[in-house]
Parts: sequence; C-alpha cells; structure tokens
Amino acid sequence: MINAKQKARTLLCALIFMGGLSLASSLSSQGMRGTIKKESFGKTTGGEQIELYSLSNKKGMEVSITNFGATVVTLKVPDRGGKAADIVLGYDTLDGYEKGTSYFGATVGRYGNRIAGGKFSLDGRTYTLPKNNGENTLHGGIVGFNKKVWKAREIASKAGESLEMTYLSADGEEGFPGNLSAKVVFTLPAERNELKIDYTATTDKDTVLNLTNHSYFNLAGEGNGDILDHVMTLHAKQFTPVDKGLIPTGELKNVGGTPMDFNSATAIGKRINESDEQLVFGKGYDHNWVLTRAGGGSGLLVAAEAYDPKSGRKLEVLTTEPGVQFYSGNFLDGAKGKGNKPYPQRAAFCLETQHFPDSPNHPNFPGTLLKPNVVFHSQTVFRFSAK
Ligand code: BGC
Repeated sequence: MINAKQKARTLLCALIFMGGLSLASSLSSQGMRGTIKKESFGKTTGGEQIELYSLSNKKGMEVSITNFGATVVTLKVPDRGGKAADIVLGYDTLDGYEKGTSYFGATVGRYGNRIAGGKFSLDGRTYTLPKNNGENTLHGGIVGFNKKVWKAREIASKAGESLEMTYLSADGEEGFPGNLSAKVVFTLPAERNELKIDYTATTDKDTVLNLTNHSYFNLAGEGNGDILDHVMTLHAKQFTPVDKGLIPTGELKNVGGTPMDFNSATAIGKRINESDEQLVFGKGYDHNWVLTRAGGGSGLLVAAEAYDPKSGRKLEVLTTEPGVQFYSGNFLDGAKGKGNKPYPQRAAFCLETQHFPDSPNHPNFPGTLLKPNVVFHSQTVFRFSAK
C-alpha cells in the first residue's frame, strides 16, 4: 500500500521529470543542443544490446543509424512538396540485418567489393581470404564489418549532429593482416540536407583497406517501384570492365559510345537491357567508374547525381575516393524489407564510393595499402535537394 506522502512524492518526481523533458526539448528546439534520440534496437542472437540512433535537422531530414554494422537504417528527406519519405531499403528489426545478405545501408569493410580468388600478396606473403562470392571474396568476407557490433558515441553541437562509430578488427580477422582500428563518423548538419560520412583507420601491420557505405536508394521512397526512371549522371570518362565473376580485367576503358556513359544525365533504364557484354555480366549496372579528377589530387568532388522526376528528389554524391560502384540492384529478388514490402530486382541503386575492386591484385590501380603510423581518411557526402 502506498500512503498519501509516498503518492505526493511520486507525483513530485513525475513533475520534475516532465519539467526536465520539456526543458530538454525546448533547449533542443532552440538549437542549444542536439536532438540525437537513442533507443533500443534489440539484442543480437549472441545477446549483445544494440541501439538505434536518430539524428534530425531543421530542414526536414532525419537519419537513423544502428551500431550493428554501423548501418544507415532510415533516411528521410523531403520531396518537392516538402513531404518526407524514407528513401533507403532496409528492415524493421535487427533480426533482418543479422540475417540479411544484401548489405542494406551497412558500412562495408575491411575490403569493400571483390578480391579475386580470395587471395592477395603483401610484403612477399600471400594472404588467403574466405570466398563468399563464387571463387572470390566480397565485401570483407563471411563476417564483414557490416555484421560487427560497433561502439557508438553521440556528438551534438549547434552546427549539427554526429554519431561516431568505432570498431577494432583483430589481426587475422577474415584473413586480413594487422589490428585495424576503424572509425566512421556520420554527420547531419543543422542547416543542410546531407549525410556526411568520414572514415578513418590505422593499423599496426601493413594491410589493405577499402571502406564504403552500402545504402540502397530509391528516391521515390523505399518499396515504391523500381529505379529505372531515375536519371543518373556519373562524372567519369572511364570504368573498369569486368569478367563473368565481376572481377576487373585491369583495363581502364573509355565509356564514350557505350551504355556505361553517364556523363550526361540518362535514365537508368534506358540502356540497361542492351546486349552489351558488360551489362550481361553484371545483369545490369554493377561496375566501378573511374572518377574524373581534373588535375589529379584527392579532394572532395561530385562523383554522381541521381534525380527522380516523380518526387523531384535529387541525390548528389561527393567523395574523396577515386571510384564509385554504381550497382542497379540487379540481385534483389523480391525478398521482403521494411513494412513487409517486397524489394524486387532494381528496386534501388547503390553508389558505393571506393577504391577500385580487386586493387590489391592490380598494381596499376590506385593503391589500397595502409601502413602503420599512417592515418587513412576519406569522406563521402550524400547531399539531397528537391525541385
Ligand atoms: C556488388 C554486387 C552485390 C551487392 C550486394 C555490390 O557492391 O557490386 O555485385 O550483389 O553489392 O552484395
């Protein structure tokens, strides 16, 4: 039995708590502090507690990210009428991400994309990796960074909200040498609709590294038809042709006169079913474009632009990386995602900023070697607008 005194005390505590809440929300609405919301995303099958963090800004953009795989779970941006929709594929629950094989929204590593024959040599030693894609290794192996539990830290300021994710990949994990300390910082600026992703990494032994984000975009809203009417621009004069196993042949080929030329804005579906050998191998677009860097260097440049004429949403992808994998969702097979919606073939596209696939086996490609005492850094920005 609670007596009157206890009741009064409970009521007082509740009032103080609610007062605190309203003070917190008024502080955040004044921009005095960030509004990163943290909630439980459930437990892994191994019993680890996983969180979901939601970042939002004043321009109507909202992003939620989980520390399971440092994965972007939802990304809501306004259309030309100001109506927000979630434009990335994914799952409603952690279980989907644990079982999923499509890398929805995930941070991919230690080596994003393919390594031929699951083998590479470094400092005179051959490293053997698990093969998880035919004869090759894809996206870091069987248990890549997308399936790891990352440590998260919230950083909110007047300029925006950031979420830092860190993961220590042990020497020998998935066959790669060196203890690799990886950090991914996701930032949502207060005044701009963009998601900025900063990657840093250090190692204690020579290793190879290729980090990217594997978000699947449908600018009309996830689960809302295919992306064949989306208009794509890729600022690249060359691409890296592949063999049947999607391994680069080593050639840098001019896109001019081929269905790979997206230097002027072209609907994704316009040439996707042509009998071009590269499109046949990829079952559509699944290739690395060599970004045009006038004057060389590694500054941030606009790599790609995608526009959905229906909603008016536009995505620009900026990066410091030398390449981008444009993947037109060819292997999506109708499996169900958020809200039980099926995601059929070409229900979304990915623009994976990266070093070229299989670089450790192609000395003519930009190098992916990371040495001790060197800090790797790269940046990619997904910028949104609507018209
Ligand atoms: C690859 C595709 C693959 C997809 C999902 C993309 O980065 O290029 O071939 O199917 O990831 O694994």
